[in-house]
Amino acid sequence: MYQRAGKLGKPLQYLKGVGEARAALFQKLGIFTVGDVITHYPREYEDRSKLKKLIELQDGDQCSFEGIIASKVVLSRPRRGLTICRTSIRDETGIINATWFNQPYLKDNFKPGEKYLFYGKITRRRSFEVLNPVYEKIDESGPVNTCRIIPIYPSTGKLTQNVIRSVIRNALEYIGDSIEEILPQWVRDSCSLADARYAVKNIHYPENDEAFLKARERLVFEELFLLQAALVSLKAAGENVQSGICFGAGTEVRRFMEELPFKLTNAQNRVFSEIERDMESGKVMNRLVQGDVGSGKTIVAVLALVKAVKSGYQGAFMAPTEILAGQHYITISKLLESMGIRIALLTGSTAAKESRRILEQIGSGDIDIVVGTHALLEDKVVFSRLGLVVTDEQHRFGVRQRAVLGRKGDNPDILVMTATPIPRTLALILYGDLDISIIDELPPGRKKVLTYAVDSGMRERINKFIRKQVNEGRQVYIVCPLVEESDAVEARSASELSAELAQKTFSDLKVGLIHGKMKPREKDDVMSRFVSGDIDILVSTTVIEVGVNVANATLMVVENAERFGLSQLHQLRGRVGRSGYQSYCILFNDSKSEVAKERMKVMEKTSDGFIISEKDLELRGPGDFFGTRQHGIPDLKIANLYRDTEILKKAQEAALKLLETDRALESPENRPLGQAVRDRFSGVIKSVSMN
Ligand code: ADP
Ligand code: MG
Repeated sequence: MYQRAGKLGKPLQYLKGVGEARAALFQKLGIFTVGDVITHYPREYEDRSKLKKLIELQDGDQCSFEGIIASKVVLSRPRRGLTICRTSIRDETGIINATWFNQPYLKDNFKPGEKYLFYGKITRRRSFEVLNPVYEKIDESGPVNTCRIIPIYPSTGKLTQNVIRSVIRNALEYIGDSIEEILPQWVRDSCSLADARYAVKNIHYPENDEAFLKARERLVFEELFLLQAALVSLKAAGENVQSGICFGAGTEVRRFMEELPFKLTNAQNRVFSEIERDMESGKVMNRLVQGDVGSGKTIVAVLALVKAVKSGYQGAFMAPTEILAGQHYITISKLLESMGIRIALLTGSTAAKESRRILEQIGSGDIDIVVGTHALLEDKVVFSRLGLVVTDEQHRFGVRQRAVLGRKGDNPDILVMTATPIPRTLALILYGDLDISIIDELPPGRKKVLTYAVDSGMRERINKFIRKQVNEGRQVYIVCPLVEESDAVEARSASELSAELAQKTFSDLKVGLIHGKMKPREKDDVMSRFVSGDIDILVSTTVIEVGVNVANATLMVVENAERFGLSQLHQLRGRVGRSGYQSYCILFNDSKSEVAKERMKVMEKTSDGFIISEKDLELRGPGDFFGTRQHGIPDLKIANLYRDTEILKKAQEAALKLLETDRALESPENRPLGQAVRDRFSGVIKSVSMN
């Protein structure tokens, strides 16, 4: 369906009934070729298939009927801007009055004695009436707008449904039987899928409900199958071309583990052994570690870094913000103190002189591990023997950036970490080119963060509660409303709030402020004062959303919580509950919307990131589930990643099975499929396969 060549590749302009002007309108919908228009699927359908004789009509019916114009059309203009055409229509069983508003030309259109098909809503007053019925001449090519299930297409103002319908009919006629079947027979058989021709025909003009469902299932399957195949064959390409490093140093890592201030959880142990297996093998590791907030991903990455360094290689650890990079640097330095490992921090705000020195040492191999931000991606960062690349909070980075860092070594192993747990099926799509490890257990002794959604009526009591926490020696975050449009506005509202709190409500406490518009230096300064306990209450924008770790903070207050997505709220809440103290999360919500209330309820009831992410997906839909765009997943034309999970599972299984035998889709019977994968998802392939 997605081939760029042959009849499907023909520019739409040259199709019968289109021409330059219409082609331009179609282009606004992203439709350039016959293939594009064929895959411009209906948004919904109107069932006009019920056909009745006039004697069978009942009040309220919506149906089609066939009839003869029984009388001359009478045109009246009761007031300015309103014309009314009336006539009657009969068949051999009865008669009905028909009225059209503001279509004066109908007076000349309809001649008594002519036969038409009609569709409309029937009402019964003294006699039967139909208002503004759809009408069409009967001809041999069959009805278009009546007597069948009619597609309704996504459109822009100027392209009417009638035009789109007729163009699509012409396109279907033009391609005729030449649609190539790209799904192998065994796949269609084992999943009982309709064939391509049937599917295309019936997605536009379904014969009945069942035919529509069959057609849709086939097309959804095909789309997801191609996407999965694209991702898996990418991964395969990576594995084939490259041979990676075989790391050793198992014993040194064991010794380091013994010296840790805590015992690894079972989940951490399992995930690290998966990583070790990859690292010791000759294949390049491309592994994603998923783990809820606070599950202890950092230490797992550190173990891998130690392994790399003790095997004679360098490691890079990239974090999405300066705050986070700075914190990782401190944590990792402390952990590695006794190991004789040399470590440096490199961010956009590292002083020029310092940065020059670090770059030199990275190049000469005098630094073993460099922690940093996007600054690590710059061309001037050249390693002497980069062996392992770790990116933290993967959802903040694009696939591209991961690849850039990877190219700085000779096929280094790659480990990415994310605190955004997502359903397995979706993970296979979003991270189809990665192996996945899951840390599904929190370190022992964690208390559940007690979460309450409140409205502003509770403001006084919450303020008292904030004060109480501080008096007990704890610290508090207050997160300001998310302002989608502008960082600047967001920063301003945070500044105002912190000024007010510092001057009035909490004038006797130490209130700090941090937001994205501040200079990195200032941010670092505020953050380290918060870490050292010099700030009691930290007012912030979402810059603290990811990763930050201040164990003494026990209260998270979120203003206008309804503006945040569930996954984001979960991330924010994850900033507290990092110690043995009982922690709390207060969500201010004044919205009366049902969805907002539902979200708050989920947060109150659930602390499991996986459940929250499923709910998030459900309440938002996968389109804006965060990150999907960033991950390079193109818009799907027909599949819905959330609702079509059953088909998704089947398509994934089939794709994996097929690719087991023919990874590159090169065998003659799979070649059209391989071509379709490239045509449909070349975007994904380009963005991922830069290395
Ligand atoms: P995240 O997975 O959110 O990145 P971190 O790696 O920041 O979590 O870990 C959260 C906290 O838990 C850190 O203070 C870390 O030292 C601690 N931690 C990690 N693993 C364990 C463990 N096995 N036992 C006890 N504490 C642990
Ligand atoms: Mg983390």
